[in-house]
Amino acid sequence: NTETDYELIGKNEMLPVYIPREKFSHKGSHGHGLIVGGSYGKVGAVHLASKACLYAGSGLVTAYVPKCGYVPLQTNFPEAMVITDVDEEVISKIEFDIDPTVIGIGVGMGKDKRSVQALDDFLNSNKKPLVIDADALNILAENRHLLDKIPAQSVLTPHPKELERLIGTWKDDFDKLDKAKAFSKKYDCVLVIKGSHTITLYDEKGYINTTGNPGMGTGGTGDLLTGMVTGLIAQGYNPLNAAVFGVYLHGRAGDIAVEKTGYQALTASAVAESIGAAFIDLF
Ligand code: AMP
Ligand code: MG
Repeated sequence: NTETDYELIGKNEMLPVYIPREKFSHKGSHGHGLIVGGSYGKVGAVHLASKACLYAGSGLVTAYVPKCGYVPLQTNFPEAMVITDVDEEVISKIEFDIDPTVIGIGVGMGKDKRSVQALDDFLNSNKKPLVIDADALNILAENRHLLDKIPAQSVLTPHPKELERLIGTWKDDFDKLDKAKAFSKKYDCVLVIKGSHTITLYDEKGYINTTGNPGMGTGGTGDLLTGMVTGLIAQGYNPLNAAVFGVYLHGRAGDIAVEKTGYQALTASAVAESIGAAFIDLF
């Protein structure tokens, strides 16, 4: 891995990346994030991602879920708009009549064969930047011809198991980074390798995150990251900056939240509620 430059990412590296809010801006200036995902029993993932998208600063957020997600989302999350799939329990057709800035896809989606077909059809027609996570990554890994349809500079956010499905097994950390780098180059994607020190790879550079803690090893934290990166792209961050900054803020939110909850009781919802504090903490 000698040709790759690695940079440690903390507050000082992120301050120049931060885009301040303009005094006369309005919700139309802050973009519109669309979160696509969910399946029967996993609608909460979309709730968390949509909330994180909004908390990261997206002007608007829409959740695209199977019909079973409509009532829980509209009841518990009034700021989100909701569009439902034709199917009751899974994503079976990704079709909508809105014009989002960016789409985060995969959280809680499952791998039903109707969802595989829906993702295939969607990738054939989609022109928007994507943040791809969770089961959308698993579907891509299992249907490798779909990888060629990923739009350039999409952000992929695999955890270790999802990464292994995408790039194969590795001998050691150096081998893992080599394989990950080759993958990122081949598909021109920003690859976020999640872990205790998340590493974001793009264009011969690696960004090693320094925030976050083991309390974040709990269900739903990854869904927040998907939403945050989507929300940052919605506002105008380029995909690489959105990924690196999103990972930093996500970990910082976790570090702020854990001071009140302790490691064991930290929940994704508590991390979400600290996203604002992570922004404030920059200054
Ligand atoms: P997922 O497995 O998709 O739910 O994602 C888990 C998220 O929590 C990722 O963003 C990880 O980087 C983060 N996370 C999990 N465990 C730790 C840890 N020990 N230290 C820091 N971050 C962690
Ligand atoms: Mg996940």
